[in-house]
Amino acid sequence: MDNLLAVKVLVTGGAGYIGSACVEELIGHGHEVVVLDNLCEGHRDAVHPGAAFELLDLADRQGVDRCLAKHGPEAVIHFAAHALVGESMTNPSKYFTNNTATALGLLDATVAAGIRKFVFSSTCATYGVPERVPMDESLPQNPINPYGESKLMFEKILLWYQKIHGLEPVIFRYFNAAGATENYGEHHRVESHLIPNILKCALGQSEGCRIFGTDYDTPDGTCVRDYIHIVDLADAHIRALEPGISGAFNLGNGDGYSVRQVIDTCRKVTGHNIKATEEPRRPGDPPTLVASAEKARNELGWTPRFPDLESIVSSAWSWHQRHPLGYSE
Ligand code: UDP
Repeated sequence: MDNLLAVKVLVTGGAGYIGSACVEELIGHGHEVVVLDNLCEGHRDAVHPGAAFELLDLADRQGVDRCLAKHGPEAVIHFAAHALVGESMTNPSKYFTNNTATALGLLDATVAAGIRKFVFSSTCATYGVPERVPMDESLPQNPINPYGESKLMFEKILLWYQKIHGLEPVIFRYFNAAGATENYGEHHRVESHLIPNILKCALGQSEGCRIFGTDYDTPDGTCVRDYIHIVDLADAHIRALEPGISGAFNLGNGDGYSVRQVIDTCRKVTGHNIKATEEPRRPGDPPTLVASAEKARNELGWTPRFPDLESIVSSAWSWHQRHPLGYSE
């Protein structure tokens, strides 16, 4: 891993939750990084001080062309996207516009600049309700929400660009990103994710957390997810930069935890008796999503450093304690 050649990388969404951790890891491995972010979801303080920063909206195609010409990156890692399943069920246009159409503009600019390596943040939501778990990459992809569909459409575009333009796409289908590094953690201006919402209760910022759906066909009736640390996601991106690597890879730990188990783990880690109320299902949620990441392990030599939920939650908890209000605005 450390014998990799240093690469200059453009990271879209490098001020966001997973992007900021990836930039930290890239710089730690000696790569040169340019962060492109419009800060609509990201935070200026989440941009690593060792990275160049371009405040730019990806929909500004001329701006993107100028940015690529100015910095001359050899690879693009594309994180910038909207990623809320629930929101995509009420505002699908936001997802197809940003995650598919705007991303296509970036891809065209990338090809026009002669860059071949394009690493794309996709999602397990592209599979929909899986036929079996653990889920490997050969499963059919039938999304049940516009978020998953917007990502799947872009996956397909990448494969056409591979055939036609000789692109070297790497598609990472993340399971549930969680955890924090020393410096970078999870701060969404409107928080809808399970773990940060539970931790907010422990910080005394909310009365209790909510369980969306208790009548799923799962061992305790609540949704089961595979939580994967952002440092481990970042590590896969470093490996993706190696010449010759392309294709789609699931990134998850291979263990499923129910919503109730996540709440219990947070209670244990924080020492707080967090109140939970039971609510109806959230539209667009499949019952169970658990990865088989054998392909990433075999082909990328990827081994998660945070294989268990408790260590993932502990890292998030220590970041939230140090940044109770998140990043400053
Ligand atoms: N969830 C929940 N309460 C919350 C937030 C989420 O019960 O306050 C559930 C949600 O329905 C899903 C799981 O927790 O089954 C993970 O949701 P999250 O939004 O964290 O990630 P997603 O799976 O949507 O990417």
